[in-house]
Amino acid sequence: MYNEKINILSLLPEEIEAEPAYRRGQIFAWLGKRAARSFEAMTDLPKTLRDNLAERYRLDVPEEVTRCVSTDGTEKILWSFSDGERIETALMRYRHGTSVCVSTQAGCRQGCAFCASGSHGLSRNLSAGEILAQCLYCGEDVNHVVMMGTGEPLDNFDESVRFLKLISHPEGRGLSLRNISLSTCGDAEGIEKLAALKLPVTLSVSLHAPDDETRSRLMPINRRFPIQPLLKACKKYFENTGRRISYEYVIIDRLNDSPAHARRLAALLGKHPAHVNLIPYNPVPGKPFGAPKKETVLRFARELGSIPATVRRTLGTDINAACGQMRSGRT
Ligand code: SF4
Repeated sequence: MYNEKINILSLLPEEIEAEPAYRRGQIFAWLGKRAARSFEAMTDLPKTLRDNLAERYRLDVPEEVTRCVSTDGTEKILWSFSDGERIETALMRYRHGTSVCVSTQAGCRQGCAFCASGSHGLSRNLSAGEILAQCLYCGEDVNHVVMMGTGEPLDNFDESVRFLKLISHPEGRGLSLRNISLSTCGDAEGIEKLAALKLPVTLSVSLHAPDDETRSRLMPINRRFPIQPLLKACKKYFENTGRRISYEYVIIDRLNDSPAHARRLAALLGKHPAHVNLIPYNPVPGKPFGAPKKETVLRFARELGSIPATVRRTLGTDINAACGQMRSGRT
């Protein structure tokens, strides 16, 4: 049965009830630094304190249901939380270390036309502790976090921001906020709220089209926040944080991949401190979109002229762990 106690993984040290006060930092370190899986495992705490913690809190370590390993080394983990909700996390290995791509919601309500992750709508938000657990219990020393798995982080604003505080806390994992990217489908209001917090997190904005007509076809959120108000919010984010915005552009065969699209994109971002990530579309079963040709992608990158752009290496395609493929099939 679902346990109603507070998940201690969602708490900052000062919020943990334990006496004397220095024990709070010790407990937080057991969780954040050592990924303890039970109160019992916190062996340098007095037994009475461990019992008190177990009475007051739950320590919601998700069950690892499956782990698929791609031919390129990318892993996809399917977790189950204590209420039975299942979510996915991807681990990607680069020369500079391991990146973990966390989900922030179970499902997603944004309904982007090309995406498998949001195909079944939103089931529920994840708590900060549930987002953190994906980093703590994945079995890797995590160097980077990308909030780019299932869900729209700004649609779960408070828990996403709390997660940032938890994972960067010096008494816990202490990951630099500069090593974290938060990806949004373009919630301009959420971007402005985040900008006001002045956190040095990299903001990745999924643009995917240089004009409102094409973008609205792909991403319903564009009807609420069209391109110009979105770019205005991004400008604010840059002014407040000094962090250059990363724009994601999924290149889809014959939909948004022409030289004219590239030139319009360049004109749009010309005045913005921007970096563009070009992502060749990963076909998703049941979606009417195709992967672009390699030459088309390279030509698109050339047409961007002086705008810095990277063609992203697609990792984990064979295990459905690539962008937009999470939660597209149970393993
Ligand atoms: S692309 Fe992101 S925001 Fe859009 S439906 Fe998929 S998970 Fe949600």
